[in-house]
Formats: sequence, C-alpha cells, structure tokens
Amino acid sequence: MKSFTVKNKLTIVDSLEGILIVEPDSNTIKTYAEKLENYIKLREEVQRYARAEAYTQDRHKIDVLCNIGNLEEARLASDYGCDGIGLFRTEFLYTSERPPSQDLLEDIFNKLLGFFKGKPIVIRAPDLGADKPLPYVKLEEQNPFLGLRGIRLLLEYKEEIFKPFLKAYIRIAKNTNNLKLLLPMVSKVSELYETANIISDIGNEMGIPNAIEQTNLGIMVETPAAAIAIDKFLETNYIKFISIGTNDLTQYVLAVDRTNARLSRLYNELDPAVLRIMKYTIENAKRYSVRVDICGELASRANAVPILIGLDVDGLSVNPPLVGLIKYIISKSNKTYIRKEILDKILNLDTDEKVLKISKDYLKSLGISVL
Ligand code: PEP
Ligand code: MG
Repeated sequence: MKSFTVKNKLTIVDSLEGILIVEPDSNTIKTYAEKLENYIKLREEVQRYARAEAYTQDRHKIDVLCNIGNLEEARLASDYGCDGIGLFRTEFLYTSERPPSQDLLEDIFNKLLGFFKGKPIVIRAPDLGADKPLPYVKLEEQNPFLGLRGIRLLLEYKEEIFKPFLKAYIRIAKNTNNLKLLLPMVSKVSELYETANIISDIGNEMGIPNAIEQTNLGIMVETPAAAIAIDKFLETNYIKFISIGTNDLTQYVLAVDRTNARLSRLYNELDPAVLRIMKYTIENAKRYSVRVDICGELASRANAVPILIGLDVDGLSVNPPLVGLIKYIISKSNKTYIRKEILDKILNLDTDEKVLKISKDYLKSLGISVL
C-alpha cells in the first residue's frame, strides 16, 4: 500500500487488493492511513514467517513459491525466503531482434539453479504472442488472445524457438531434479503429445533415453478447455504437476479481456464461476495424485488465500515481497475448518464481492484484519 501523486492527483495503490484509487475522498484517505499503519506493524511480524515452511494449523504444508521475470528478481525472491520458483517467465529473453542462443538459455538456467540450491524451479516455456509480441514474427490477428500464442506459437515455430529452448532446458535438467518445465496456454491434448515427441527426439539425439521423465513436465491450466478436460491431459501420464494461471483463466472463463481497463470491473478472479472451475480441476488433478500450484495473481491476494487453501492447492506462487505475509496467513488458517464451513458457502454465492467478504471475515476471526 502506497500513496503518491499522479499528474497532481493524489492516488492510493493497494497492492494487496490490486486496486488503484485516484483522488480518494477524506474517508478513504483516513481508512487507508489506518490500514497502512496496521500493515507496517503486521509486516514486521510476518517477516518471522518468511523463511520457515508454512503449515496450516491442522498441519497441511503449502509451499510458497515466487513468480519472477528475470535474474534480478530471482535474487530478490531468494532474499525474501521463498520455497522455490513457481513461475519463471522467460518472455523477456525473446524481446530482442533474434531468439536467445542455446548457450545463453543454459547459462540463465544454471544461474537460477545457483540461486535456489535444492529448491524447485518452474521454468515456463515462453508464452509468446497476444500481449507479448515478438519482433521477428509478424502476427496480424483480429483476436490475439485467441490466436497464435503460448504452446500454439511454440509448435508453429518449433525449429526457430521451441527446439533451441527445449535443448537448453534438457541439457541442464539432466543433471538435477529441481527443474520443472511448464507449458503455457495449452488447450488440446494433442499439443502435449506433440511436445512430448519433440522432447523424446531431442533426448534421443542427446543420448538421454528417458528425457520426458527427466523434464518434469507440467501444464498451465489457463484455458477452460484444459480446466474442464484435465483428466484427459493427466491420462497421458506425461504430466507431473499443473499450475493454474488465474490471470488468463479468469479472462477466458468470464470472456473479459484482461488488458481492457474499461472492463476491469468485470474482471475478477474471485468470481464464483472461476472458483467453481478451479475446484473441478483441482479435484480431478488430485484423483491422479498430481500436484497443483497457483501461479496467477490470485495467489498474491492475501485476502483470497483462505479460499485457495480450501480448494486444496499444494503451492502458491506469489510476488516476492509477499512471501512472509502469505506464509503467515497459511500458518494461522485451518484447512479442515475452511473446507467444512466455508468452501461450499463461497461456491454458492453469486458475486465476487460476497466471496471476498466471507474470506475477509474468516481472516478477521483469526485476528488478521488489516487486509
Ligand atoms: C496467468 O495467466 O495466470 C499467468 C500466470 O500467466 P501470465 O500472467 O504470464 O499470462
Ligand atoms: Mg497466462
């Protein structure tokens, strides 16, 4: 939480809720002044939780990982005490005139391993296209978010982009069990088979017969197709984990462009429709004993953490400065209680505001009221 002035207009940035308030009235300023004071006190307390493993009151462990987009953020994340990296966004490597060389990619993956010795690191294959355009690929599309992006683009440009990336990843991953590979924007099981074939061909070239196993493959669940047909993806036996990308999943479930400021009121990750589809996906993943992480912004919304605990997630991948706060909330929460008393109520509501209120009330009952 911060306040500053935009073009001479007082503005409050509530980073815990993802809200920007321009020209707040005097009551809002007073509320936020109190919130800020309480938050500063709470921040000191939560730092004590940052480096320890986070267990709920009824002893369920939930990993708190970090989202990062470059090596500088990796250093920061390791200082904040996270349990590993839940999402390394690799797109920044693809912004110059040419795709990165295999050597550069290997060097970066190695450096990451150095920062997080013995901890898991989830590397996402580049999610290019849509809001992350490429200088060397002309994409003139009417609906870029429904177009050639993520795994679709990688498979279309496999020689130029996907194979060099996979070769670098496989070369580094063969010496460690800490790396995991995440595929973005998957919507068809065939995309998984095609990727697995490429991985096994590369493995054969490199003399690694079990390359798919060593890859520690996971998919992002960010399309309704992947969420609803998750069992079909898991039946392939290629997947070791899934990571729910709530940013895109929300946009596609609610049919609201996540980048359109005029629709921001309609874009809400706590919409019961989004939560219901997440519950369905997680329950199915658990039937296949597959690990479930959340790597969208929803994991960083402190007020939503009780709901995510109730949904039975194994890990939350958050913005680095929030590691302590999220671990603190996990440590105070009781998963059995949430699942028994709160989850069904929330899933039967009809607005995100009502969902948020129940979750906040639960936090208040734990004495966590600043949020
Ligand atoms: C997501 O969609 O939730 C996600 C983490 O991916 P990105 O925000 O990079 O699209
Ligand atoms: Mg996404």
